Amino acid sequence: MAYLELQGINKIYPNGFHAVHHFNLEIEKGEFVVFVGPSGCGKSTTLRMIAGLEDISSGEFRINGVRANEKSPREREVAMVFQSYALYPQMTVFDNIAFGLTLQGVDEDVIEQRVQKVAGILGLTDYLDRLPRALSGGQRQRVAIGRAIIRKVGVFLMDEPLSNLDAKQRVTMRSEIAQIHKETGATTIYVTHDQTEAMTLADRIVVMKDGYIQQIGTPYELYYKPVNVFVAGFIGEPPMNFLRGKVADGCVDFGENKLDLRRVMPNIGEWEGKEIVLGYRPEAIKLREAEAPDAYRIDCQVELTEMLGDYTNVYVTAGESRAILKVDSHDTPPTDCALCYYIPTESVYLFDAETEKVIAGRSLEDEPAKDHSKAQSELKA
Ligand code: ATP
Repeated sequence: MAYLELQGINKIYPNGFHAVHHFNLEIEKGEFVVFVGPSGCGKSTTLRMIAGLEDISSGEFRINGVRANEKSPREREVAMVFQSYALYPQMTVFDNIAFGLTLQGVDEDVIEQRVQKVAGILGLTDYLDRLPRALSGGQRQRVAIGRAIIRKVGVFLMDEPLSNLDAKQRVTMRSEIAQIHKETGATTIYVTHDQTEAMTLADRIVVMKDGYIQQIGTPYELYYKPVNVFVAGFIGEPPMNFLRGKVADGCVDFGENKLDLRRVMPNIGEWEGKEIVLGYRPEAIKLREAEAPDAYRIDCQVELTEMLGDYTNVYVTAGESRAILKVDSHDTPPTDCALCYYIPTESVYLFDAETEKVIAGRSLEDEPAKDHSKAQSELKA
């Protein structure tokens, strides 16, 4: 039995809008799960149903095996951190952090001790006498997190907690949240539309679109084994490149480039006459034939380059299709020149253009996705 169980959860708002469809998920104690997806896909609605701030229209939500649909937020023992921080402006940092404990009538000495401990974890010790308006955005967000973690609840729910911070603060707070999770070991559900936050923080990611779960998996699984075009395009930066075409004699013509798909899908004959989508990641391509002995050669035109330090994004066109290539910045080509590049066949994914489901590529390989944490412990050994 998992710690949190969501079974067939639906949310239909009073105006009839069906925001979440048949949501199934089990979360183990201590897990860090991230809900990710574009705006309006139902992430916050699902989180708010878990928090008890929104009614569950149908389905069952269980905590520790016990039905919790009808329980109040307090009974569920969850703490939520909001995007807007929701601090009390007239209270000091100390009082904001202590607020939940003060309400519960906890002994003053215990409160003092716990606030000092939490402030220490969050680097707020020197700010306890300040009012929120005298803090930076990142410090305010830390106070909001402090107020949540001081309560020692079973589950932390975080709804886009970093979205009001600038890019640099977001990176810092992201690693602090990871550190806090390591220290507290608390079960955490975190909502974001930022795939980098999802990939860096999560044990498991739930990718959502239009109220439906698209895929649940580790960051590794979502990157290497996407189940459909949406997940393949959502995870990865820059996003996966896609080419669309009709299969004829086992091949597909993409502009000037004719690709023999039998090399990646022996049973491509079954798709004869049908539209398929071929996907490959910008970072998978090679610029030299010798680096990719089994590869498709693509001839293209360089439109634009963006040098970003150790790598360059190269925007190219090949006939009607466009692609982004991620290359070592030492290999940055001049703009407006002709270029050829190589897509290793092992890094090609094929999708059914109609259902958008994957039909060939690493996603369908039997071996379970490699767990990079295992690789890390092997390296240590
Ligand atoms: P964002 O990243 O923009 O916060 P989200 O994925 O968290 O988006 P939700 O806030 O869960 O999305 O909203 C899901 C859908 O439900 C949206 O289409 C939204 O317009 C709709 N919705 C949210 N609240 C209500 C409501 N009270 N009544 C009707 N529809 C609602």
